[in-house]
Amino acid sequence: MRPRIAVIGSGPAGLTFARVLHRHGHSVTVLERDPARDARPAGGTLDLHEGLGQLALEKAGVLAEFQALSRPEGQAMRILDAGGTVLRDWQPRPGDRANPEIDRGQLRDLLLGPLDVQWGRVVTEVVPESRDGVLVHFADGRQETFDLVIGADGAWSRVRPAVSSATPQYTGVTLVETSLDDVDTRHPDLARLVGDGSVAVYGVNRALVAQRNSGGHVKVYAQFRVELDWHMNLDRHMGLGLAGVEAVRSSLLALFDGWAAPVLDLLRHGTAFVHRPLYALPVSHTWAHVSGVTLLGDAAHLMPPLGAGANLAMLEGAELAESIAAAPGPEDLDKAVRAFEEQMWARAGRWSDITMAGLERLVSPDPSEALALFDEVQPS
Ligand SMILES: Cc1cc2nc3c(=O)[nH]c(=O)nc-3n(C[C@H](O)[C@H](O)[C@H](O)COP(=O)(O)OP(=O)(O)OC[C@H]3O[C@@H](n4cnc5c(N)ncnc54)[C@H](O)[C@@H]3O)c2cc1C
Repeated sequence: MRPRIAVIGSGPAGLTFARVLHRHGHSVTVLERDPARDARPAGGTLDLHEGLGQLALEKAGVLAEFQALSRPEGQAMRILDAGGTVLRDWQPRPGDRANPEIDRGQLRDLLLGPLDVQWGRVVTEVVPESRDGVLVHFADGRQETFDLVIGADGAWSRVRPAVSSATPQYTGVTLVETSLDDVDTRHPDLARLVGDGSVAVYGVNRALVAQRNSGGHVKVYAQFRVELDWHMNLDRHMGLGLAGVEAVRSSLLALFDGWAAPVLDLLRHGTAFVHRPLYALPVSHTWAHVSGVTLLGDAAHLMPPLGAGANLAMLEGAELAESIAAAPGPEDLDKAVRAFEEQMWARAGRWSDITMAGLERLVSPDPSEALALFDEVQPS
């Protein structure tokens, strides 16, 4: 009999896992908390790396579709200092497809393809080793049993407590996100500042990054070192209509006071603000293997958003699915999961280290650190 497999979460990790397993002819139950595919905005743009996210898409059989949708020109990167002086203006070479960008919504739709997601299934708890397998509890009081449960349910995973007591800790950096629409027509100066890809501006313990998405949409990320409770004041304003938006905008403009006017225009014209204090799991988070339950992506190794999290989540999803598909019988499933975990922990540990150190340098008392980091990682 085929094992009953459930993946909790339809983010990059869960969808890639399900899609690759589906490609190998296995059935998998995808359980997602959101009530529908478009229940909330999909988010910004992701750069998918050769050898990570792109390799996962190849394993899922959708690399050609990704290549048709993605934006290689989005790899362009401009760096400014807080006074507005351009320090670097990096353009990808023609044909460079090392890290093209794709909107999260497009990636989700690409991966969803033939998958049948169960929307509105809010998992509250997972209990391993019940009489008939692994028991999954839902917010509506229902419960179901599976042979293998994959927690791909992100930073605040409800599956993680079944294998680990670790919880994400605040990194000391908060990010506030805003957006600009129809930028080429409505804000041509900002469109030129952002270019085809991203612009990043670094100051003392502050950074402002703007990224072009498709359709003239730009996401702006203000990042700063601040106490976690800094937002208490702002939380009251967020989501409170126009007055709230203006209160958040003034607070941000005060935080970035003295920065060049064209850079501050990215905040002046932002339409709404989303507050995202950055949390991370301990570097090299591992756990004692628990039969019938494992984790993927942010649930396993939440790290600062420096271009690795979704890539790792997708590759892990693809690799776990391939290992399961290659297991000769149900009795080999646990061995396949154990071997996968060892491989995931080793790679994710290295990336956690890199991204934690990267965050220290990108939002740093010494802004020259950010430029030095860029020069170290960017091909000349
Ligand atoms: C601002 C920002 C920019 C980023 N940029 C990049 C980038 O350029 N490149 C990159 O590689 N990474 C980037 N990342 C990181 C990346 O977004 C994450 O690492 C990635 O989304 C993790 O994928 P995941 O599938 O593990 O989790 P998620 O994307 O968090 O998906 C989890 C899914 O599980 C569902 N879920 C949660 N709880 C439950 C529950 N109880 N029951 C059922 N379902 C549940 C959620 O609704 C969601 O659909 C960025 C992150 C941020 C914040």
